Amino acid sequence: MTDLPPLREVIARHGLTASKALGQNFLLDEQLLSRIAALPGNLTGKAVLEIGPGPGGLTRALLRAGARVTAVEMDRRCLPALAELEAAFPGQLRVVEGDAMKIGHDDLMGEPYAVVANLPYNVGTALFVRWLGGEHWPPRWTSLTLMFQQEVAQRIVAAPGSSAYGRLAVLAGWRSAAALAMKVHRSAFTPPPKVMSAIVHVTPAAMPDGVSARTLERVTEAAFGQRRKMLRQSLKGLPGAVEALETLGIEPTRRAETLSVAEFVAVARVLAD
Ligand code: SAM
Repeated sequence: MTDLPPLREVIARHGLTASKALGQNFLLDEQLLSRIAALPGNLTGKAVLEIGPGPGGLTRALLRAGARVTAVEMDRRCLPALAELEAAFPGQLRVVEGDAMKIGHDDLMGEPYAVVANLPYNVGTALFVRWLGGEHWPPRWTSLTLMFQQEVAQRIVAAPGSSAYGRLAVLAGWRSAAALAMKVHRSAFTPPPKVMSAIVHVTPAAMPDGVSARTLERVTEAAFGQRRKMLRQSLKGLPGAVEALETLGIEPTRRAETLSVAEFVAVARVLAD
């Protein structure tokens, strides 16, 4: 195994005090990091897109797992520490300075890739919606292994009928499989965030016929926009939606959170016809 200095030393030597504005909470426990790097499965020789490597803790675990890593980081202060990793793993790491929200990931990677990221809450959720919401399916990414606040992770994997079930769960469930892969205690981070975290692992599945991501999103937006109301009320503003419920035999007195992902897909399919 490549001998590397402890992460605390790297952080101190490069003056990487955690920036709140950039949502920086670093993971320093190398055993935990290698368990996270194992979640996507065997990475030997595989292309991995890591967003937000920071001082490179997760990056070194991915490199040790044999991945070919492209790491996108917007904090320039982290670049010298990442350059050391590039030197320690020749030809295995490419560091890209920039904002992952503005970069075209498929163009950057040019081949199928697994995504691994420990990101700030707002960036993580926005990218999640982008990765799962595209019209092109299957996507170029082969899996997503993403750290979220535990509450957000639970919304992603929520089952119908629960209060956490909403747009994120439908988005995650209609053409992919999302599972809670690992809970991570707040004390594992430096500095520790206020809340617990959890890692979600997502793999693409077959896309149902006759439904576009946009139509489904319009249905869930309307339905969950007024989640306490009956569907006949919440879907009123979406032309044809209440009629679609009748066509499908879905009681219009039900509320959004009682509909399965398959029922949402069915409504979107009728609307698309
Ligand atoms: N991966 C490291 C770890 O696990 O210790 C750092 C995690 S820290 C929670 C999030 C990292 O994402 C920071 O290094 C931050 O600078 C970076 N970051 C935040 N927003 C970003 C963006 N839009 N694009 C790229 N990197 C971003």
